[in-house]
Amino acid sequence: MSENRYARQQILPEFGPEGQQRLADSSVLILGYGALGCVHGELLARAGVGRIRIVDRDLVELTNLQRQIAFDEHDANSQTPKAEAAARRLRAINSSIVIEAEAIDVTPRNIEAFIRDVDVVLDATDNFETRYLLNDACVKFEKPWIYGGVIGTEGVTMAILPGTGPCLRCLMPDAPTAGSFPTCDTSGVLNAAVAIIASWQAAAALRLLVGSMPPQQRLVSIDCWNGLFNSFAVNKEDGCPCCGLRNFEFLEAKRTAWTTVLCGRNAVQVSPPQAVNLDFTALTERLQQAGRVLRGGLLLRFQTTETEMAIFPDGRAIIMGTTDEAKARGFYAKYLGI
Ligand SMILES: [Zn+2]
Repeated sequence: MSENRYARQQILPEFGPEGQQRLADSSVLILGYGALGCVHGELLARAGVGRIRIVDRDLVELTNLQRQIAFDEHDANSQTPKAEAAARRLRAINSSIVIEAEAIDVTPRNIEAFIRDVDVVLDATDNFETRYLLNDACVKFEKPWIYGGVIGTEGVTMAILPGTGPCLRCLMPDAPTAGSFPTCDTSGVLNAAVAIIASWQAAAALRLLVGSMPPQQRLVSIDCWNGLFNSFAVNKEDGCPCCGLRNFEFLEAKRTAWTTVLCGRNAVQVSPPQAVNLDFTALTERLQQAGRVLRGGLLLRFQTTETEMAIFPDGRAIIMGTTDEAKARGFYAKYLGI
């Protein structure tokens, strides 16, 4: 008789065989697979969540390894898409669950398809634009999501349960404006602080999945370096533009910025205004006239004497070696002709 891999979890009264079965029947979206996402994936795959969907737009870099525990030097040296490296690792951890991985940028155009058929969403994003978009989509479809963010030695988290409690815009009606909020580039980030917040989020998700509501929807703030823990009551606001008035401004924008300077990288992401479906074979033939093309996994790498880029099937490209958005867009236009 084979051993039950979940034996130590199943004997917890909070789980039991029934809870374990519920996990097996459930699905989770991990949005972003940076420092928080790595911890979410590990914990949920090992716990036996039946289907885990990973969506991340980025490639593994050496400076990620300090805190992004799913990746290693090989992933960084080969600049593997995070979604691809994560899927490989999670499948090796637990072959009895389904892992879906997409190396794609989440936008107002595609977010609904990613969240519609999952039970819970874990926030592992690195920017407020995406969190507000996620909040809109989750309130619209009444999907619970677990907010999390870490800067320096401090992190915050809150379970957001649309229909029963406050949403992100009840807490913060407007996103911080660009440049007004510290980022992991300007303030750094303690890996242990990430692990605590991500674990807190994973526990909230597991609790929801086994059918038990989190005790209270409060904003939790933890600074593990300075030994500080706080939690704050957050009210559901009747006048909240999102959950009160159901005005989904971020979701209805239905467009994305053309270019984004990527957090912590000397790189710019360029997205075409309309989703496309690139024919990699034809594109490889064209690009080979201008430089070196390498095809592997979910992407195509292209190198010339003046630039290097990773191109994804949906037309998105990451232009390396610059933070100049105009320059990046110039290279994109020159080689992809869009
Ligand atoms: Zn709200």
